Amino acid sequence: MTFRATVLTLYPDMFPGPLGMALAGRALQNGTWSLQALNIRDFAEDRHRTVDDTPAGGGAGMVMRADILAKAIDHVSDDRPRLLMSPRGKPLTQHRVRELAAGPGAVLVCGRFEGVDQRVIESRGLEEVSIGDYILSGGEAAAHVVLDAVVRLLPGVMGNALSGDEESFENNLLEHPHYTRPPEWEGQPIPAVLLSGDHGKICAWRRAEAERLTALRRPDLFSRYQPFVGGKKAKPET
Ligand code: SAH
Repeated sequence: MTFRATVLTLYPDMFPGPLGMALAGRALQNGTWSLQALNIRDFAEDRHRTVDDTPAGGGAGMVMRADILAKAIDHVSDDRPRLLMSPRGKPLTQHRVRELAAGPGAVLVCGRFEGVDQRVIESRGLEEVSIGDYILSGGEAAAHVVLDAVVRLLPGVMGNALSGDEESFENNLLEHPHYTRPPEWEGQPIPAVLLSGDHGKICAWRRAEAERLTALRRPDLFSRYQPFVGGKKAKPET
């Protein structure tokens, strides 16, 4: 089963871009996922291939036209979720990333200018997705982020399948610190417990460090964290 990604953009040459390299690139090559980047401009109807116009009500900047974008969306739409990269969207979470990775693929619409006409968002049921509280110049970098996060979860992509489960956010916890050789560097030793070979102690130390860091840096996450109780897995992040 191939995860099918279609990106609608004014800059199709930005794809695969970074997604053509390393883990994602290898997975793309071996058919674990597929990527189609279509130029929204190809759906314009006039001689100048216009995709944007001035905002109704006035103001600075330009707005992507509903009719042109809808044609592009309708051309590729099937049962896949349709995402619009948007700073107004629901912040992307590892939970949503997992859901997407379990599905057939996604259509990702990249905005430019001031954004897109509200009517196409509503009529085509676009799910607005934000990658954080800051403004990018376009949705392409956001689409890279979404696809990178999804693709690494596809079956067979990560070399060590276990490494997915213990990472930041999977349990509403940030990850514990990592160390590797040399055992002492610039006078700083690796915490002794990690070299003890006692897996119970190592596990407890990592858990305590993860809890300490999360409480310190991300009280919002920590308030949703539930330690393992009575062998039951903690509530997944939402
Ligand atoms: N005027 C808009 C910002 C437009 S930025 C506003 O104030 O909300 C242009 C495009 O970049 C957007 O349409 C969107 O597709 C993309 N973009 C910008 N910031 C983003 C973010 N944080 N997450 C996802 N997409 C973003």
